Amino acid sequence: MKSIRSYNLSLSVFVFVTFMLSMVQLKVETPMLLLERFIVGGGWFEIALVALFGAILAFKMQDPKQSGKWRRISWSIFSVWFFTQLLLGILIDDTFLLTGKLHLPVPAMIISGPIYRGEKSIMTLLFLSTIVLTGPAWCSQLCYFGAIDNLMAKGKTSRKKINYKNPVKNILLLSIIVVTIALRFFNVSPLNATIVGGVLGLVGLAIIAFYSRKQNRMVHCSVFCPIGTVVNYLKFINPFRMYIDSNCDSCLACTSNCKYDALTISDIQNRKTGHGCTFCGDCISSCKTNSIKYKFFGFSSNNARNLYLFLTISLYSIFLAMGRI
Ligand code: SF4
Ligand code: SF4
Ligand code: SF4
Repeated sequence: MKSIRSYNLSLSVFVFVTFMLSMVQLKVETPMLLLERFIVGGGWFEIALVALFGAILAFKMQDPKQSGKWRRISWSIFSVWFFTQLLLGILIDDTFLLTGKLHLPVPAMIISGPIYRGEKSIMTLLFLSTIVLTGPAWCSQLCYFGAIDNLMAKGKTSRKKINYKNPVKNILLLSIIVVTIALRFFNVSPLNATIVGGVLGLVGLAIIAFYSRKQNRMVHCSVFCPIGTVVNYLKFINPFRMYIDSNCDSCLACTSNCKYDALTISDIQNRKTGHGCTFCGDCISSCKTNSIKYKFFGFSSNNARNLYLFLTISLYSIFLAMGRI
């Protein structure tokens, strides 16, 4: 039974990713798939490769014991591929860039970019569409920067929660918005505004290197990153939820499996995952009573999880083929 379900999910991801990327290949005039830019017809080979990888990922991640490992692997691959293309685009040939228009690869730019320039941005629209489709999956498998935090936070997390988290997160988000409005209001040059953004990115990397690594939890994503805070609030426009059912005996075994500080004692007492939960599912296999579950309208928790995996892995695969600056 399990293997039939696994193949169905894999097949669905394969067909859907192939269809979506084929539409891009056929309908968009400028070649969007990287191989097509170098070899005529190469885009079709890339589509097959990416769809196959998505199918393998769906097969592996359907097993809760494997999903954390494969999420980390796939997220890291995405980040390495994203930054490699960026470097190749800057140093060798701008064919490696999506539009040829560079912008700073720091998540905060997703909100501050459009505020500073006073115009809509493709990146921001893309980000918002992922929230509509998959809730918080941007912060568990789709963001090029969060993968670094995830990788550095590897290891057993202590049960101690981060007390200062929520006020700091909100203040930081507000500060980024206010500073960006000020940069625009005082006509600060794009170069100087980029330097401010770059400093923010470096502070983020320092937090990852010193705090996330030391605490084995994603301190950058859970506390510092303003986009993570936006995701925490906006994710509720998507109907997927996670909850802890009444079989939970409060053993706390799951708390040390959450990198986002979203399974504190009070979260467990409230029978729902915390505000910062990204629905990553890493905690599911640690619960011996199978109490941590996905919810989607009247679906069974297993079907809700499969649907969530289908959506996130499909989106991930499409991003892998298209996600670059
Ligand atoms: S919190 Fe920020 S850096 Fe982390 S995954 Fe989300 S957007 Fe990316
Ligand atoms: S509570 Fe579970 S699903 Fe939510 S972020 Fe933590 S590990 Fe992931
Ligand atoms: S591991 Fe399961 S039973 Fe134990 S506290 Fe977490 S949800 Fe409850």
